[in-house]
Amino acid sequence: MKVAKNTVVSITYTLKDSEGNLIDSADASDPLAYLHGVGNLIPGMEKALDDRDNGETFQVVIPPEEGYGMFDEELIWELEKDQFAELGEVEEGLQFVLETEDDQVLVTVVDIKDDVVIVDGNHELADETLYFDITVVDVREATPEELEHGHAHGPGSAHDHDHG
Ligand SMILES: [Zn+2]
Repeated sequence: MKVAKNTVVSITYTLKDSEGNLIDSADASDPLAYLHGVGNLIPGMEKALDDRDNGETFQVVIPPEEGYGMFDEELIWELEKDQFAELGEVEEGLQFVLETEDDQVLVTVVDIKDDVVIVDGNHELADETLYFDITVVDVREATPEELEHGHAHGPGSAHDHDHG
């Protein structure tokens, strides 16, 4: 079976940056499973996987525009330290969801000054060109429940959950 919209695809991969540093991986003992064609992976990866055969191994280089985006200055916010009172101690590296006027953004505390906490909503891989080695290890039809939810279920999926 080939990778196509509404198939559940399992892959193993390594992800490296332009200097060859390993950023992320999934090996045969714990492959990544996802529902193809509905935007669950970054655009460049879905494009590269489309129409691949089960068992196929390939390399792909994904520019930031089709990966985790370009670094955006507008995703840097300065917040009053008072706002963090209920969170207790604020440290660099703390992550939380910031409610902006029209969005929810996962941000990371990048700096703390006297009365100000500076947070960054850019993805940590923003601006990075991504070097993937990918092997397709399974392709199957999605179940009706998976299609309804818009994600894969079962081992390897990010949504290995009970829906009651
Ligand atoms: Zn679900």
